Amino acid sequence: MPYDYDDQNIFAKILRGEIPNTTVLETEHSLAFEDIAPEAPVHTLVIPKGPYVTYDHFAAEASDAEIVDFNRAIAEVCRIKGVVPGDGQGGFRMISNAGENGVQEVPHLHVHILGGQNMGRMVPRPT
Ligand code: AMP
Repeated sequence: MPYDYDDQNIFAKILRGEIPNTTVLETEHSLAFEDIAPEAPVHTLVIPKGPYVTYDHFAAEASDAEIVDFNRAIAEVCRIKGVVPGDGQGGFRMISNAGENGVQEVPHLHVHILGGQNMGRMVPRPT
């Protein structure tokens, strides 16, 4: 089964309230919270509340309501964190790692919203 959701992953525990988080935004279907080990001045994670492993899993199987809610939550997080491009703000990078080659550590879909500084090249050039 390509999408085998492990409900013991750390973000599932955050959603169940078993582990604390610093919430930025909560909506009906999504939660945004600060990354515990920030790699930029702005580093916020946005996750759906549903049991989706990766972005492709979510995009293939989530309801329209979940997909709209998640994307609107991302937009709202960008506004809250002050990284909307233009309008005097600096823009951001959005990353969603998936699977082994994507080097995904937590197997619950999340997007990283990174900003507050120039984020450099998208990926390092192969050596
Ligand atoms: P990824 O490699 O894309 O799966 O990223 C997982 C992210 O989750 C990393 O940036 C971690 O710092 C972050 N993380 C892990 N545990 C927690 C936690 N309890 N609260 C907030 N962020 C976390």
